[in-house]
Amino acid sequence: MSPAAHRRLEGRVVIATHNPGKLEEMRGLLAPYGIDAVSAGELGLPEPEETGLTFGENARIKAIAAANASGLPAFADDSGLCVDALGGAPGLYTARWAGPEKDFMAAMTRVEEELRDAGAELPDLRKAHFISALCLAWPDGHVEDFEGVVNGTLVWPPRGPAGFGYDPMFQPDGHERTFGEMSGAEKHGLPPHGRGLSHRARAFMTLAQACLGATFD
Ligand code: IMP
Repeated sequence: MSPAAHRRLEGRVVIATHNPGKLEEMRGLLAPYGIDAVSAGELGLPEPEETGLTFGENARIKAIAAANASGLPAFADDSGLCVDALGGAPGLYTARWAGPEKDFMAAMTRVEEELRDAGAELPDLRKAHFISALCLAWPDGHVEDFEGVVNGTLVWPPRGPAGFGYDPMFQPDGHERTFGEMSGAEKHGLPPHGRGLSHRARAFMTLAQACLGATFD
């Protein structure tokens, strides 16, 4: 899309999530740009079924549903972990591997067991990436999509108490520590302190340049 085709996001936006952790993170990203964020949960909007075949499609489904139901621009994300030796799994099922109890130690153990079953013990065979797809949708049908990726290696045992999900077993390329051993600021590496490290920070920086008037050197 050419820069001129991007639409500026201003004023109030609905964050299409019912997850309080994600809500706080997205609010924090948007606040420096003067965007006032209300959540789909706070507005009592229904959660659409995520029937997409890609992270981007699922982000779109959530953003469009929230924009249509609220009459406000809406912001949604979808993300996950793709492991090369597992043919891209858990992929769209990343959250589901943690089960209804959201037990991410169990989810990481499943990844590790499947890597061992695949004979993937050397670091080079344990490559993976996180993907974050972000979507902004307006009630008039205008939609903007962004994606960020971070490549890394899966370590075992998991290391570090920080972050969430699969962070303790993910060591981003070029770093000695896992995301679980980094502070949030380090993990995301947002300017002016970094050049964008996490998948979500990278996707958000592209969005901020396109729709929030941000410039990063
Ligand atoms: P969803 O985007 O809510 O569908 O779920 C994505 C799932 O991917 C989460 O439940 C996490 O387990 C995992 N995930 C996404 N981003 C991260 C991250 O930055 N660190 C660790 N796990 C992540």
